[in-house]
Amino acid sequence: YMKYFNDKCAKSKIETEKAKNAVPGGIQHNLANNHPFALAIEKADGPYLYDIDGNRYIDFLCAGGPTILGNNWPAVRDAAINQIRENGPVSGLYSVYERELAELIKKYYPTVELFRALGSGTEADIIAIRLARAFTGKKHIIRFSGGYHGWSDQLVYNDGCTTEAMKNGVPAECFQNTHEVPINDVEALEAMIKKYENEGGVAAFIMEAVGQDSGAVPTTKEYHKAARELCDKYGMLLIYDEVVTGFRLGMGGAQSIFGTSPDLTVFGKIIGGGYAGSGGIGGRKEIMSMLTAGVDASDNIKVKVGGTMTANPLTSLAGITVIKELERLNVHDALDKASDYFMRGIADLSEKYDVPAIIYHHSSILHIDVSGVQHVPYCIDSKDPQFQSQLEDAYMNYIEFSMALAAEGLIIANGGKTYLPYGSIDILDDALAVYERV
Ligand code: PMP
Repeated sequence: YMKYFNDKCAKSKIETEKAKNAVPGGIQHNLANNHPFALAIEKADGPYLYDIDGNRYIDFLCAGGPTILGNNWPAVRDAAINQIRENGPVSGLYSVYERELAELIKKYYPTVELFRALGSGTEADIIAIRLARAFTGKKHIIRFSGGYHGWSDQLVYNDGCTTEAMKNGVPAECFQNTHEVPINDVEALEAMIKKYENEGGVAAFIMEAVGQDSGAVPTTKEYHKAARELCDKYGMLLIYDEVVTGFRLGMGGAQSIFGTSPDLTVFGKIIGGGYAGSGGIGGRKEIMSMLTAGVDASDNIKVKVGGTMTANPLTSLAGITVIKELERLNVHDALDKASDYFMRGIADLSEKYDVPAIIYHHSSILHIDVSGVQHVPYCIDSKDPQFQSQLEDAYMNYIEFSMALAAEGLIIANGGKTYLPYGSIDILDDALAVYERV
């Protein structure tokens, strides 16, 4: 596959060299897809990405999640172009699209009584824990080991699996009130809550609803129920980070599947329709009502939130259009079937060629991990130097696997996890053929 990059991606290679003088490292923030250099993508259309050398790739990255329908989906594109042409993309003030998006989210998430749009998932996670602290008057936050809730100072830290780069620039004070527990372990969660009960108390348990790192190991229904009970018992909030799962696992996200009720839900990605500035938080009225700081002086429990591009009409309208398309086309049913078909194909390949792999999926969130090591222990056991080195090898295997797939014409997301977009349903056999070649 190195031959492919050298022979077929000459312009991208030159572009990376040029970019080094203007962009740190000449690379993109997406960690897995910068090897041996960043492919410069010129066009994202339908199920494909096209680089500046004119090469075409099947897109299983889906921009990291938002483009569930496929790239440049006509209804979304047309709504956006019309908005830009007729009304302009941003005003900095209220638009009716802010309400319409909130109403659509409320319709599918009964736990959301009020919704506030924000600029990104990272921002929405920041405000989630701030709200929890303000509402409960407590200090500590508990999360899963190995989970991801954006890159803010208080949430970036993963005990045991943090690389130096993730810790650099983050003072210990920022994460000393954030504590980690292993997935699906109710006793560990309760023990952690008790540990801090008399030291300021625990304000919230925040979890990616299907499991850490978007589902490296799935959470169980029993665990969700127990987490809800513990949050009630100790007077703390349950926060679901549904940045990935919201409108992807189904219209109602993970919470409709598990049948539980978080106090707050964090959204991102799909609700922005693939446009910039996509995030938001929704939840119980009495908590969400605190997000009015600066409007009047009558209420003493107010929480500040901001963001220049927050609820901009272009992104809100794109999100509304995508959600309506998901409804209209019954996209999740089609994606469930397509994902089952695709993953069965992958399992057959794994057997046929005797390549051990960890293979499972939650609807169109696919986990195809040939690295030999799953992410979970990466985060729990990596203090063991021998295991750490095994994990580093696994990471390199993973990078090589991504590169080989790209050379054969398919781009995936990070960490063995990838997304199947609705627009690619007709070319699943082509995608399986790529995996077979690799
Ligand atoms: N939470 C989860 C579960 C995520 O997967 C991500 C992004 N991958 C975020 C939060 C952060 O969202 P954003 O990239 O929009 O800041």
